[in-house]
Amino acid sequence: MASNLQLVNEYMTYKTFRSDGSVTERELALEVVNRFLESGEVPAEAGSLGETLVMKTNNGAPGYPNLEVKLNTEVVHVQWPQDPRERVKVTTKDGTVYTADNVIITLSVGVLKECYHSLFTPMLPDAKIKAIEHISIGVMDKIILCFDQVWWKGVSCPKGSRNTVTFWTSGEIAKIVETLPEQVVSTKLALLRKFLGLYIKNIPEPTRMIRSTWHTNPYTRGSYTYDNVQTPQHPTARSDLGSPLLDAAGNPRVLFAGEATEANNYATVHGAADSGYREAKRLLDCGNKKIVVQSNY
Ligand SMILES: Cc1cc2nc3c(=O)[nH]c(=O)nc-3n(C[C@H](O)[C@H](O)[C@H](O)COP(=O)(O)OP(=O)(O)OC[C@H]3O[C@@H](n4cnc5c(N)ncnc54)[C@H](O)[C@@H]3O)c2cc1C
Repeated sequence: MASNLQLVNEYMTYKTFRSDGSVTERELALEVVNRFLESGEVPAEAGSLGETLVMKTNNGAPGYPNLEVKLNTEVVHVQWPQDPRERVKVTTKDGTVYTADNVIITLSVGVLKECYHSLFTPMLPDAKIKAIEHISIGVMDKIILCFDQVWWKGVSCPKGSRNTVTFWTSGEIAKIVETLPEQVVSTKLALLRKFLGLYIKNIPEPTRMIRSTWHTNPYTRGSYTYDNVQTPQHPTARSDLGSPLLDAAGNPRVLFAGEATEANNYATVHGAADSGYREAKRLLDCGNKKIVVQSNY
């Protein structure tokens, strides 16, 4: 039976094939899961390698991968060592201190901009601080309005609904819209009536509304990064952001992933995922055998 570490290694290898365009990511995950299924030791509902790795359906009994995931746990401080014999210390808001040989950080650039000065001891190197400051994070929000009756034509509704319609806001306007009371946002349809009034009379008031608040949210502080007109002046910003913090012996101790660290596929889910594989592989290539929580077999 393969260990978790072997599995991740295999996945990385398959991933390389995928980059050649020969096989898709879903196929990779399924292949790994199917191999577990053949051995009879993976839960049938496991849908991807990620799910398999965090799966605890057998209460952590032998034979199952068993990563411990802490949800709703805010990290407030990361202390990275210079001495190779010391461990990285991560402190959470409730005061708990976790130690590890390595840490991979995937905070959004919005959060890093706000917190980097208090989050790290020692302070980050200049190149990384400059990267955090130079990479721009945008705000792209959705407002979903629900109406008693459908008054529009040719506009698709969000999945699972028949009487809602989505509006998008972005940039500085989106930041303001996020702070307005719901009542104000849902009843301010003047703009809509201005644009559509000639064609559609009596646009009704919505009955309900939900909206995203990517900028107000302290755990995102924006939606995703973008390149601005000054980006060519800082061509290494994304790779500087993705560079690890090293100890005195040159070992990567704190690593950085997340969409913003990807040179090509930033601002996307696949870019974010790729960056995770990239940093996990960086540790594997360093011969670090402790990145996967110890398994029982
Ligand atoms: C409206 C919208 C539409 C999008 N559409 C698409 C699309 O169609 N296709 C596409 O590919 N991409 C799309 N994206 C972009 C995509 O969602 C992101 O690029 C991707 O989710 C980024 O992943 P990430 O892991 O880098 O960061 P995140 O998903 O932001 O993950 C960072 C995590 O860090 C956590 N965190 C923050 N602070 C702390 C802390 N102090 N301690 C512990 N944890 C913390 C956060 O809770 C979060 O879970 C869209 C994004 C938005 C907002």
